[in-house]
Amino acid sequence: MNQMITNHLPTAELQALDAAHHFHPFTDRNALAKKGARVITSADGVWLKDSEGHKIIDGMAGLWCVNIGYGRKELARVAARQMEELPYYNTFFQTTHVPAIALAAKIAELAPAHMNQVFFASSGSEANDTNIRLVRRYWQVKGKPEKRTIIARWNGYHGSTMGGGSLGGMKPIHAHGGMIEGIHHIGQPDWWSEGGDMTPEEFGLLRARELETAIEELGVENVAAFIGEPIQGAGGVIVPPSTYWPEIQRICKKYGILLIADEVITGFGRTGNWFGSTTFDIKPDIITIAKGLSSGYQPVGGSILSDDVAEVVAEGGEFFHGYTYSGHPVACAVALENLHLMQEEHVVEHVANVAHPYLKARWDALRDHPMVGETKLVGLMGSLALTPNKEKRAKFAAEAGTVGYKVRERCFANDLIMRHVGDRIIISPPLVITTAEIDILVERAKKSLDEAYKIVKDEGLF
Ligand code: PMP
Repeated sequence: MNQMITNHLPTAELQALDAAHHFHPFTDRNALAKKGARVITSADGVWLKDSEGHKIIDGMAGLWCVNIGYGRKELARVAARQMEELPYYNTFFQTTHVPAIALAAKIAELAPAHMNQVFFASSGSEANDTNIRLVRRYWQVKGKPEKRTIIARWNGYHGSTMGGGSLGGMKPIHAHGGMIEGIHHIGQPDWWSEGGDMTPEEFGLLRARELETAIEELGVENVAAFIGEPIQGAGGVIVPPSTYWPEIQRICKKYGILLIADEVITGFGRTGNWFGSTTFDIKPDIITIAKGLSSGYQPVGGSILSDDVAEVVAEGGEFFHGYTYSGHPVACAVALENLHLMQEEHVVEHVANVAHPYLKARWDALRDHPMVGETKLVGLMGSLALTPNKEKRAKFAAEAGTVGYKVRERCFANDLIMRHVGDRIIISPPLVITTAEIDILVERAKKSLDEAYKIVKDEGLF
């Protein structure tokens, strides 16, 4: 039966089978079953094709991950070669292999100078679970086992395992399955929604200083680390005010707590540098990586460790932690080739010097649209805030996300993938996007905004 399910089946049949057997992540199963999932059949560059023959421009690079673009045969060839030579071996019991060695060395070369060791996982969630154990182990080895609490932010996203979901500050995720102990959340630096009458700079400082207050309240003797995304991605591409990260850095240093930069999205060129930590001048003790590491061609992630963290944890002897697929040879070989291609083709320079400036001018011009308040773009991750009143940064007279969803639906209908987070619209296209493709993306975005605006007005929401 299974062998007969191919791209050649009619879309409705594929959708019915999908609804019958495939329980999707982050999806209302019954609502999707009624509507039918869009079946994606192939992809090339920034373009997806669906089972109805539509060519869709992928403004999200999959889930923020296909940095090099789709259809790179070099990566397929490397995977095939590695599968023939050594499809699997573990790295637990005093063995290693060339793909893991070479990828770890390449990551150390690209990472900030004080970070030279990598612990591998298969995803961002797993890597953040590793980080929870690493920072707690770090303080145990230093003779301070009570330093266990990790401070994170409301509306941050760090994955959806029990550890990752608890670090994240998304209440609906906490509500499904609960939280692990020892995680404390502080406010996010979202000036547009929460900054009131303050300037962005004042608000950035206020939110950063919540870290200091939390450390004082919890007692520094109980706090292990702070974790944050340089730019919150899943929370709506929230770019913090310029004052935020320097203050966070100052507080971490003052109290001697570890700083984890979750760069699952911002790593590997997304912000116009290899790491968002460079863009925001952050000096982390641990960097979480995944997604762009392999451009999504293989599931691989990890934790890049500062020399201090690596040395202290190593002093403690065996670290009782690891995954069957930590340093999977096929995943590592593909990730390494992906990084080689990015270097050879100067993809990060393309983001900084070509794609970002070109998109920024067009993205910011969307502010002329009656429904668009602030626009943000760092490298190639951006967002726009929808509002019925730009001056007041007002919210619509409907449940948050109602209008955002309408824009997203119009984008989907116009063969453009953009997501909405509440009433923010977000983009994160493949880093190889050309200026001609940026024009198409922005044209479709404008058309979708216009169509949604008409609907919103007709419904009396504007
Ligand atoms: N951290 C961040 C910042 C992320 O954006 C994500 C995924 N969107 C994760 C962690 C979790 O990664 P994964 O889905 O690979 O587990």
